[in-house]
Amino acid sequence: MSRTILTLNAGSSSIKFALYDMATEGSRRQLSHGEVEGIGSEPHFIAKDAAGATLTEHHWPAGAKLDHEALLTPLLAWITAHLGEESLAAVGHRVVHGGERWDRPVRLTPAVIADLTRLTPLAPLHQPHNLAAVQAVARLRPRLPQVACFDTAFHHDMAPTVSRLALPRKFADEGMRRYGFHGLSYEYIAGQLREQAPALAAGRVIAAHLGNGASLCAMHDGCSVDTTMGFTALDGLMMGTRCGNLDPGAVLYLLQQHGLNASEVEHVLYNESGLLGVSGISNDMRTLLNSSDPHAYEAIDLFVFRIAREIGALASSLGGLDGLVFSAGIGEHSAPIRAAVCARLIWLGIECDGDANARNAAVISTPSSRVQVRVIPTDEEAMIATHTMNLLYSVPA
Ligand code: ADP
Repeated sequence: MSRTILTLNAGSSSIKFALYDMATEGSRRQLSHGEVEGIGSEPHFIAKDAAGATLTEHHWPAGAKLDHEALLTPLLAWITAHLGEESLAAVGHRVVHGGERWDRPVRLTPAVIADLTRLTPLAPLHQPHNLAAVQAVARLRPRLPQVACFDTAFHHDMAPTVSRLALPRKFADEGMRRYGFHGLSYEYIAGQLREQAPALAAGRVIAAHLGNGASLCAMHDGCSVDTTMGFTALDGLMMGTRCGNLDPGAVLYLLQQHGLNASEVEHVLYNESGLLGVSGISNDMRTLLNSSDPHAYEAIDLFVFRIAREIGALASSLGGLDGLVFSAGIGEHSAPIRAAVCARLIWLGIECDGDANARNAAVISTPSSRVQVRVIPTDEEAMIATHTMNLLYSVPA
């Protein structure tokens, strides 16, 4: 039986993929990864091997209007040519929203797809793209099993006090609550922490997923008890282009005083704010760290301030703090950002070891630090592949 799993993470401008060989029980080897990028402008498909060497590429003409079926055809054809006709065991999808109902990965059937489509208003910028990829694979390979893995699932069991919004109850009845996102990343980090430092993993830990999207998750014994993203992935930390936590009165001001309509406000909050909006230069942390423009510094300073402030809030949710984990593009690679966050948290008992931090070591706190600080590279695709394999092929105990 084939044990090759394809993972898909379909967004508005790109479809990221990874291909895993899950041949032996519990093992996972990445065969290839890549993406279809430039969707809507200059679509381009590229597949690389695990070491990053290009395996195949496909270019479409600039401006080509392509649906997901067309965009995924070269990928599936390449997999068939590369691995053989019956090569693929299943496809695992990252699906941003599982709503109240889906608290774990699920096999995608027409009924499940219909249910997930109903959740589109809760994640209008992500859910339709995720599901379009599901539908496209269903048409291209109707017999191929497909599994949805949700970004919300890890936070599903947060206490009612944590997930409730202080709005009239009738809105809660239609699903308005704090859901939390980046759950696949946090689940992976929790698993890695359990392997690397089991005693710490059993305690009170805050994980910081700092990429283009950014959030924090407060975990107790590996379970999410609070997180900074809420009803949507706009809440919480300042991000590459998203504002994060914002006085709702500011939204009313944009609507009423600037005469913006709802989709214009949406564009400001999701695409023009955050590091990009404050710096006026870029959403990319590397670019800002290399800039001498004072606005770049102000954007970085605000980014760090907001992380430290939210860590304080989540430490309260946990009733104290034993560990802090940095992850994702900025968290894994940027020693200056980690150092600046830690410097604001000395009061919490955090002592950063400058040398270890500069080396991107696994543990970057001093031996005497009351809170252990670690760096753990995240891997959402690996989590999806594992869930997909387990759901479809594990024999129940
Ligand atoms: P995404 O959310 O798109 O998956 P990533 O996790 O790849 O994002 O993170 C992208 C961010 O990580 C960008 O802001 C990028 O500048 C930043 N980044 C990557 N490498 C470094 C580095 N060495 N130093 C600082 N920032 C980095």
